Amino acid sequence: METQQTADLVVARPEGLYCPPGDFYIDPWRPVSHAVITHAHSDHARFGHGHYLCAEPGRGVLLARLPGITLDTLPYGARIVHRGVTLSLHPAGHVLGSAQVRLEHGGRVWVASGDYKVEDDGTCPPFEPVRCDTFITESTFGLPIYRWPAQATLMAEIFDWWRVNAEAGRASVMYAYAFGKAQRILHGLMTHAGSDVALPGPIVAHGALTSLNQAYREAGVALPPVMQAADLAPRSPALRRALVMAPPSAHGSPWLRRFGDASDAFASGWMQLRGTRRRRGVDRGFALSDHADWPGLMSAIAATGAERVIVTHGNVPVMVRYLSERGWRAQAFDTAYGDEEDTDADVAGGTAEAGAEAPPA
Ligand SMILES: [Zn+2]
Ligand SMILES: [Zn+2]
Repeated sequence: METQQTADLVVARPEGLYCPPGDFYIDPWRPVSHAVITHAHSDHARFGHGHYLCAEPGRGVLLARLPGITLDTLPYGARIVHRGVTLSLHPAGHVLGSAQVRLEHGGRVWVASGDYKVEDDGTCPPFEPVRCDTFITESTFGLPIYRWPAQATLMAEIFDWWRVNAEAGRASVMYAYAFGKAQRILHGLMTHAGSDVALPGPIVAHGALTSLNQAYREAGVALPPVMQAADLAPRSPALRRALVMAPPSAHGSPWLRRFGDASDAFASGWMQLRGTRRRRGVDRGFALSDHADWPGLMSAIAATGAERVIVTHGNVPVMVRYLSERGWRAQAFDTAYGDEEDTDADVAGGTAEAGAEAPPA
């Protein structure tokens, strides 16, 4: 008799999520020979694997993070057959190149979604619901309290915060994860301003953003002009009108001193929680997330038509219980994925970024 475990197209192993018939892993956290990578965030894409496969639009950002890897890419929607498993990658709407992995074998269809977001943000193709029997979902913001304002609303709020600061002669320091969130804010502010509204001042980007901004531009994502801090004279008045894009790990660093008495803000889904902004020690919080909120998770799960759901990193027990009570076969996978919207995860996963930081003046 075939056991449930061997019949499954994805199982949890110490190395990561494993496809037994295909003999490959999805976002493994220990070195393996074949790794399918859903996206280039550091907890999902690690050094040490023999061969990598990712969606074609993710090539630039993955190589910016993991230079020198052996990488194959696949256009969204294209199918390959590997050891009898039909594999294709579909937009996850999370960051540039992010993909859901669709697996078909022996009449069964599984989708491993990686991280995803259902609202279109203009920097990557929007999340595409893929029909399947079993859906593997993240649950980073898997509590009913998480409901994001529309992106256009958040971009208008960020723009106004910057404009008011610039008029008062104060720089605006925005802490945002260096890959994905930062480019989304840059693109969103440009879109918000449109062609007839001037930006309140120059945009200065921390060195940790340079190679990622470049990868986004090369992938065809429009970003506004961005300066390096060294491009501005130490006492330039433009410093006091600037929007400064910095990774959370730059908080309190000497690099920020040149901007003087700035207003600062943090962009993360966690900013919806009362008290998080105070703990971060910043003036403003914007609840801008690259993950689905609660209604987004529920609509994505329903749209797959899956009768079985496997929940990974986040609020796992809550989601499993909620789905079970509503008729899904729900269970959990233990994974080593973290949360890139959290400062600590950024520091822990950001050692490569630290080397890219500009030296303090
Ligand atoms: Zn991610
Ligand atoms: Zn994740």
